[in-house]
Amino acid sequence: MGHEGMRFGFEKLAQDGAARAGVIHTPRGDIRTPAFMPVGTAATVKAMMPESVRATGADILLGNTYHLMLRPGAERIDRLGGLHRFMNWERPILTDSGGFQVMSLAGLRKLTEQGVTFKSHIDGSKHELTPERSMEIQRLLGSDIVMCFDECPALPASDKAVAESMRLSMRWAARSKEAFGDRPGHALFGIMQGGVTPELREESAEALKAIGFDGYAVGGLAVGEGQEAMFGVLDYATGFLPEDRPRYLMGVGKPDDIVGAVKRGIDMMDCVLPSRSGRTGQVFTRHGVVNIKNARHQDDPRPLDEACTCPACRNYSRAYLHHVFRSQEIISSMLLTWHNLHYFQQIMGEMRAAIAEARFDAWEAAFHAGRAEGDIEPL
Ligand SMILES: [Zn+2]
Repeated sequence: MGHEGMRFGFEKLAQDGAARAGVIHTPRGDIRTPAFMPVGTAATVKAMMPESVRATGADILLGNTYHLMLRPGAERIDRLGGLHRFMNWERPILTDSGGFQVMSLAGLRKLTEQGVTFKSHIDGSKHELTPERSMEIQRLLGSDIVMCFDECPALPASDKAVAESMRLSMRWAARSKEAFGDRPGHALFGIMQGGVTPELREESAEALKAIGFDGYAVGGLAVGEGQEAMFGVLDYATGFLPEDRPRYLMGVGKPDDIVGAVKRGIDMMDCVLPSRSGRTGQVFTRHGVVNIKNARHQDDPRPLDEACTCPACRNYSRAYLHHVFRSQEIISSMLLTWHNLHYFQQIMGEMRAAIAEARFDAWEAAFHAGRAEGDIEPL
């Protein structure tokens, strides 16, 4: 693709409190931070054309190694020209390592020092993931930002279990770095583990910094610990990470989780929530959550949000969206997903502007006030 000459790099443009605004340069284009990455699990953001995802303001997508290795297979995607061409998304792609989803989706898994063997949740076939194989798969996919292969223990877990798991992940991080090699224009991110224990988080961060990565993720959160515990970890954990590298909070989250993470120094996030909720009729707006299946919308000619510029709000009424959702029409998933992704990207853009202008606290107060108002009154 002729991108080989350019390198990966992060530039911090502004800071307001702990919140940062910046840009990640990649050969496939810039990523404005803080960034929200829509999830394209199986080489598609469900119900969205790639150009529509771009139109919502997304600079980067996330792809799932676990799903893509099982179907259609990383070697096949490589033969077909890589994931960008395969799914018609030319901008940057971040892939996860497959580790988290093996733990949450696969059947009959066995964990050893070497890696994980497991059975596919699709057809029961047997597979192995190791740091080396995860790096190979992510290279075959053509991922721009590659994640270390790690293990994420389910919480709650004892301190001893969290420490042992974290140290295994740090040994795997060193193997990931070795297997990744030197690939100009592509980035490898390390993943901090350590649960909710400050000493373990610091030990993990020090181990990762000694190996050296292009960016650092905070892993092992958004796994059921609750927002308060998650913010509690972020309050100290981002301080263990280098100032001059992007920080990625994996699998987050709801709009108020995202705002709280940015406030605590996170630069990148991903979550299936806006797309998945679009398919289940849950809509996020400035005024909180709207459930489009409620009968209160069936005669309502107003848009979801009069101030929103997405196609669902510009061209369709609540009554129509309610009707197509209740009728299980495909356009319902398309429109509600578009609105949700648009709303998430709008929040990110507003936060970037607020940080640049050193008014993040005022913006955050307005964000919470809007949500506290609740949805507009029924007609
Ligand atoms: Zn909208």
